[in-house]
Amino acid sequence: MVLIKLDSAADADGANGGKASGTSAVLHRHLSHEFLPLTRSEGNYLFLEDGRRIFDASGGAAVGCIGWGNKRVAQAIMAQILDAPYCASIFYTTRVHEELCRSLVNSTNGHMSRAYIVNSGSEAMEAAIKLARQYFLEASPAQPQRTRFISRKQSYHGITLGALAVGGHEFRREKFEPLLMKNVSRVSPCSPFRGKAAGESDDNYVNRLAKELDDEFVRVGPETVCAFVAEPVVGAALGCVPAVPRYFKAMQAVCQKYGALLILDEVMCGMGRTGTLHAWEQEGIVPDIQTIGKALGGGYQPVAGVLANHRVIDALEQGTSSFVHGHTYQGHPAGCAAALEVQRIIQEEGLLANVQEMGNILEKRLRDKLSDHPNVGDIRGRGLFWGIEFVADKQSSTPFPAEAHVAMELSELGLDEKYSINVYPGGGSADGIRGDHIIISPAYNVSREEIEMVVSTVTRLVGDYFASEN
Ligand code: PLP
Repeated sequence: MVLIKLDSAADADGANGGKASGTSAVLHRHLSHEFLPLTRSEGNYLFLEDGRRIFDASGGAAVGCIGWGNKRVAQAIMAQILDAPYCASIFYTTRVHEELCRSLVNSTNGHMSRAYIVNSGSEAMEAAIKLARQYFLEASPAQPQRTRFISRKQSYHGITLGALAVGGHEFRREKFEPLLMKNVSRVSPCSPFRGKAAGESDDNYVNRLAKELDDEFVRVGPETVCAFVAEPVVGAALGCVPAVPRYFKAMQAVCQKYGALLILDEVMCGMGRTGTLHAWEQEGIVPDIQTIGKALGGGYQPVAGVLANHRVIDALEQGTSSFVHGHTYQGHPAGCAAALEVQRIIQEEGLLANVQEMGNILEKRLRDKLSDHPNVGDIRGRGLFWGIEFVADKQSSTPFPAEAHVAMELSELGLDEKYSINVYPGGGSADGIRGDHIIISPAYNVSREEIEMVVSTVTRLVGDYFASEN
């Protein structure tokens, strides 16, 4: 047996200049890239081993929501680990697990009935898909023929096979296409910048998209559809794109017409990111099933979840009284403790109000500074969740070629000491349907001064990047 000597791994002794790459044993996302060793994060700053201090203007991928280094959360996790670090879900539960689910359910004004806690957004989506399927097996009368899902093009719902199958992220699906379930079809997303016809009213656009969804139900056989799946504000796939007013009401009406469920993926846009705890609160609807993730635990533990309404849970309770699903680490006590504490802090410190207030300032300042830039095509978002989409030609909104990796390059440039800012990149697609964008999604307790600094730094960054490219 070979023992790995951790203290000599990855050149931690500095033999390779302290860099974790080259001899890295990590199966990184990119095998030829050099990854920057992060030694510490505190408040809104990331501290790198090479001495750089980076302002985290995106909270990773919209994960961080109370900033980094919060001792209250660290202590809550530690206390839970000392009390009961693990809980096998077959016979046992923990107080933190029960309390977290109760508080999540209560936060929905009685609409949701139960919560299911897992470790990642992808796992949450897998559980949501299976829950929808199981609901139709247990509903009275049972509808076992419902095996299909309808989702949206240019969407992302996770990386595991089920979640990937439901999503429409072509690049991430491509290599695994033969492995993905085939009972999924996709309609257009609500993406006004690229989807709305010139001069088209919001109402007309919504009616057109509702008809497209209705037609898709009819095409595949409405009695075969389990659920329509969508993200209320599209995060990584499109870059912080909220729907136009009435869109979700119209989509839900189509689902209801055909008896299908509505699953909303709030892994990225939920838990306060858009200014209300649940993004659906701003759409005037409540989904049947909802997934949550990133800002649930704010990055302090891998934790995500699924909420299901009474229609779904009642059917299971009156049916087999079980959910045929389970993970070794579901409802993990450390994850639950972290999520509970993060959510308490959001509430006690009134951070949703700050998301709304700072979000309004962020929007205004971004528009003031960047709207006129010749390579900025669109600025859109909600709360503290803003996307800037870049275009090669402003008049025609032509995106840059995907292979130019504009957003990635620009974000990487942001890490240079001249800027020292972390913004999250999203790539364009080869078919030009979506463009390169960056996401700005700071922690919910970001200050006005920090917002001003973020906007002026991003303005400088965008200006310098395109000046050097043109
Ligand atoms: N759903 C959405 C909307 C996401 O943005 C993501 C991740 O970015 C996921 C699901 C998958 O979450 P995870 O990466 O935690 O598995």
